[in-house]
Amino acid sequence: MDSQTIQNNLLIIKERIAQAAQKTGRRAEDIQIIAVTKTFPATLVRQAYTAGLRIFGENRVQEAIPKIIALQDCPEISWHMIGHLQSNKVRKAIENFAMIQSVDSLDLCNKIANISRALGRKVDILLEVNVSGEATKSGLPPGKVFSVVEQVAEMPELILHGLMTIGPLTNDRDWTRRAFANLKGIFDKIAESRINTGQFKLISMGMTDDYEIAIEEGSNMIRLGRAIFGERITS
Ligand SMILES: *Cc1c(COP(=O)(O)O)cnc(C)c1O
Repeated sequence: MDSQTIQNNLLIIKERIAQAAQKTGRRAEDIQIIAVTKTFPATLVRQAYTAGLRIFGENRVQEAIPKIIALQDCPEISWHMIGHLQSNKVRKAIENFAMIQSVDSLDLCNKIANISRALGRKVDILLEVNVSGEATKSGLPPGKVFSVVEQVAEMPELILHGLMTIGPLTNDRDWTRRAFANLKGIFDKIAESRINTGQFKLISMGMTDDYEIAIEEGSNMIRLGRAIFGERITS
């Protein structure tokens, strides 16, 4: 993988985003790309930054911190936490990430709120929803989302920007589509409620294998790893 390849991959991705966005009357610029860099080295992250990407996603705090430090000289970079956050990593996550997308329980909301209060900070978050119902997956069950949103609204340290989900692990495109449509339905209900004070805007859904479906179903933030960087080598 070199910078030329990343640039070419990005061109293909942007073309596909534009086509999928058009189907719902939106423009490619309305869809943000998160470059998911887990397992990829800082040198590739830098190439992606040079290619124009600005938001980067990591799953684990420990893996992210050395890359965040290595890319400190990139003025416009921001890092999003997208993996399950253990409670003993909350402080480090707050200190190192611009947004925590993977807030998946009321407990975690409380923990983040308490630590941000102590730090004198506010934290930008998304709530992760398990729309596919797969037991192995983290995320709030759809039926619990509204009550958690109501409680987060009472936590001044948390700024809730929207919802995040991981599509089902399946080749069944209809199932994937239903799961994404389900999240969009939950999102709309919250966005139209009095709880929305104007910040609630982001629907983070869609990865390498399903981002076009996600966009067709209303996503405005896709999280791409392999589409940008190629296959992950896991040992
Ligand atoms: C790994 C990961 C991605 C990106 O996956 P790809 O299939 O490589 O695009 C997106 N979101 C989350 C939460 C991930 O863990």
